[in-house]
Amino acid sequence: MSATPIIVDHPLVQHKLTLMREFDTPSAVFRQLLREISTLLTYEVLRDLEMNTKTIRTPLAEMEAPILKGKKLVFVSILRAGSGLLEGMLDLVPSARVGHVGLYRDPETLTPVEYYLKLPEDLAERKVIVVDPMLATGNSAVAAVQRLKAHGAKDIKMVCLLAAPEGVETFGAAHPDVQIYTAAVDSHLDEHGYIVPGLGDAGDRMFGTK
Ligand code: URA
Repeated sequence: MSATPIIVDHPLVQHKLTLMREFDTPSAVFRQLLREISTLLTYEVLRDLEMNTKTIRTPLAEMEAPILKGKKLVFVSILRAGSGLLEGMLDLVPSARVGHVGLYRDPETLTPVEYYLKLPEDLAERKVIVVDPMLATGNSAVAAVQRLKAHGAKDIKMVCLLAAPEGVETFGAAHPDVQIYTAAVDSHLDEHGYIVPGLGDAGDRMFGTK
């Protein structure tokens, strides 16, 4: 598998992303847009879910109808901004299990510091979808996926809203087996580790903390 990200370029995703990028979009609208985009990203990410068939009866006839095979899913949110993507994913797959990895970026070194980890036990049997809106330096996502692999996860995908080329490179080098899905890969990171043009601090914009 390659580290080339899959860009979800659906017009609805791109339109909603533009609204999110605008500096004066209010937090409530920002959160709602993120939730809507995340359902559209989830639709793409889960495109290869395995199917079975089931015999059913419609009002007109009996048929063999497709149905999800039911490989167990877990969505793992990288706190805190991951929770914004998580909600839309759970709208589509309400029965998925949810794990949380709490990481914050040390503002000086930009390296991730773990403060929380809670995962389902049977990660090895699950399809694991890791979510974090911003793949910036890539350091938090690399660290989160390392923890998941250490807990047995084998089938992992990474979903973000926006990525920087630097993050794609770092993440791909560390985890070439993990496919990245994103709505866009922007120009570059600034000296503070923010994605340019980006949308600012996703957590602050979601929760109105700045
Ligand atoms: N995290 C954010 O929220 N925004 C960025 O641009 C980079 C990291």
